[in-house]
Amino acid sequence: MSQSFTPISSLGEFGLIDRMQSRLADIPRSENLIVGIGDDAAVYRAGDTKLHVVTTDVLIEGVHFDRTFIPTSYLGWKAIAVNVSDVVAMNAKPLYATVSAGLPRNFSVEMMDGLYDGMAEACKAYGMELVGGDTSTAHALYLSITVIGEVDEKDVVFRRGANVGDYLCLSGDVGGAYAGLKVLLDQREQLENMGDSYEPDLEAFQYVIRRQLRPKARLDVIEGLKKAGVRPTSMIDVSDGVASEVHHIGLRSGVGATVRVPAVPFDPETRAVADQFMDDVDAYALFGGEDYELLFTVAPEDVQAIDDMEGVSVIGTIEEAAKGVRAYSPDTGLMPLHPAGYQHFDGPPQTDYETNDGEEGPSFGDTEFSGDGA
Ligand code: ADP
Ligand code: MG
Repeated sequence: MSQSFTPISSLGEFGLIDRMQSRLADIPRSENLIVGIGDDAAVYRAGDTKLHVVTTDVLIEGVHFDRTFIPTSYLGWKAIAVNVSDVVAMNAKPLYATVSAGLPRNFSVEMMDGLYDGMAEACKAYGMELVGGDTSTAHALYLSITVIGEVDEKDVVFRRGANVGDYLCLSGDVGGAYAGLKVLLDQREQLENMGDSYEPDLEAFQYVIRRQLRPKARLDVIEGLKKAGVRPTSMIDVSDGVASEVHHIGLRSGVGATVRVPAVPFDPETRAVADQFMDDVDAYALFGGEDYELLFTVAPEDVQAIDDMEGVSVIGTIEEAAKGVRAYSPDTGLMPLHPAGYQHFDGPPQTDYETNDGEEGPSFGDTEFSGDGA
């Protein structure tokens, strides 16, 4: 009576979601559904010209965060912000959130207050309301948030839609959230090794630690684009790293792309962290996750408007699918760009330009937090 089981890790990120989707294929599809599984948020018709978008994301202690690093108010903020980020990636405005909280026995009223203060602050900052949820006990702290947003049909932007000749653009700077995580993990290790004699220097790396613990959703960027009269042809938020997100746009749009590595911006503090760990800062910028910036494409006639916008960089071009996703730098020339330089935060990231074998690693998309520091 032996039955063999297949580990889900064997499916890879794309394979896992495709497999789930195939189990759901028999459900009759509403004519009001515009996009289901496969983008940053689902989109459906909610009126003559209005579309609604809905997204859900979960944060689990030991997988996505370590409660000893992150104040509960930051955690509440982050849980809302990462969902708003997916709504914004559809060029939509967030309206309502619900929250399901799994609370462990050792969670205090004070921590709960902090958590909800953080969520309230984020809701105010993004102009939305928290309208309900569910509460349960759990073995580890667990937060599942759903956000509903709204967009005019003429403004919605999908992952699909990039055209050959478009320019690839990125808001803000990247690699900082990963650098922040490196610093936090390192400080914990030092503390374990040296005990009370170790004094963590959190002052030196405030920017990157904040990028990790209190990310911002770039609602301001889509408002800026609207003001500039630019509607991106495709868009995604950077939760899993720039390289991975370029692959998502490529896959959904049926195109290839070249990323100009020197054009991908990082903060001086991110470079300082990479230098300290003797890592390649470009690998942080290309493969580091959780920056929640927006990666999007624009038609050639809009690139001047993008050049004139502050805090947005043109980092590459969209090409034929046959060319694949490539990275260019003056040192290395053109190289295939793998979607994920690393799956876990256990070791230094690798700039793995060369091994583009088309295989996704055993990652589930989310940047995994190795909570046990292993
Ligand atoms: P993001 O990183 O933007 O949050 P994900 O990689 O989590 O996107 O998800 C990609 C797509 O797969 C989305 O459309 C999402 O709704 C869908 N998806 C993810 N997990 C599941 C699941 N367990 N069941 C059904 N759909 C899922
Ligand atoms: Mg997303």
